[in-house]
Amino acid sequence: MLHLPQDLPGTRRISGLPGPLAKPILSKMPHTTGIALTAAAASAVALGGTLAYAALHPESQLFGRTLIAGSDPAEIALTYDDGPNNGATLQLLDVLARHNVRSTFFMIGRFIRQRPEIARAVHAAGHLVGNHTMTHPWLAWQSNRVIRDELRGCNQALEDTLGAPVLYVRPPHGARRPAVMRAARELGLTTVQWNVMGNDWAPIGPDRVLQKIQRGIEATRERGRGANILLHDGYDQRMGADRSATVQATDRLLTEQLASGSRFVTVDAWG
Ligand SMILES: [Zn+2]
Repeated sequence: MLHLPQDLPGTRRISGLPGPLAKPILSKMPHTTGIALTAAAASAVALGGTLAYAALHPESQLFGRTLIAGSDPAEIALTYDDGPNNGATLQLLDVLARHNVRSTFFMIGRFIRQRPEIARAVHAAGHLVGNHTMTHPWLAWQSNRVIRDELRGCNQALEDTLGAPVLYVRPPHGARRPAVMRAARELGLTTVQWNVMGNDWAPIGPDRVLQKIQRGIEATRERGRGANILLHDGYDQRMGADRSATVQATDRLLTEQLASGSRFVTVDAWG
C-alpha cells in the first residue's frame, strides 16, 4: 500500500544536469517537462561510469516518457490512486464538481470490474482516467509477462467500461524498471509519477494531509515547477476503505488554492 517516495529525495530535473548528457535525453522526450532521477542515478551522474550510462543513456527505458509536471508553477494536478472505491470516489466527484475542477484518477482493474458504474461516473464527469494495473503488485519485482498482463488487464477493464482509449499509467508505488517502461510504451501508455504526496495512506487526518500538500506545492513552486499531487480515493487491499480525510483535505485545498490563483489541470496538460 505504501507509496514510497523513491524518486523524491533525489529528484533532479534533466535541465539541471551538467554537460552533454542532458541533450540527447531531452531530444528523445520532447513532451516531457519534468524528469525524476532516482537518488542512485543522481549520484551516478556525479560519479560517472557504467551506472550513469545505464541510467541516463537515451536508450535507457528508465526515463522513457515519464511525466511528472509542467513548468508553470501555478498549475496543479490532483491525482487519485487505487479506486474506484465505494463512497470516497463519488464524494470526491461531488467536491470536484462544486469547485469546477477536473482531476486524474489511476484506477485498479479489479475494482473497475467490481464497480464499473463508479468508473463511468468519473469519466462522465470529465476527469482523466488512467491505468494503475489489474491487482496493484510491485511491478519492479514481477516477470515481464506479469507486467504485461497487469497493464493489459487494466487497460481492457477501462476500455470495456469507458469505451475510450487509455493513454496514461501510474505503476503501483511508482516502481519502475526497464521492462515496466517498455511494456507501458508497447501499449501506448505514458508513465506518470508525482512530485507532491499527501501521505493520505496513513491515518493522519485531513489537517495534516492538507498541510503536507500545501508544503509540497510551495516546494515545487520554489523549483519553478507545477505540482503533481499523489492522493488516494481507494485502497489497493480492499474495496470500501475510508478516505474521508482525503475528501476533506481536497475540499479545503481547492478553496485555498483557487482563491490564490492556482489552476487545476489533468496530467495530459503536460504531455
Ligand atoms: Zn496505488
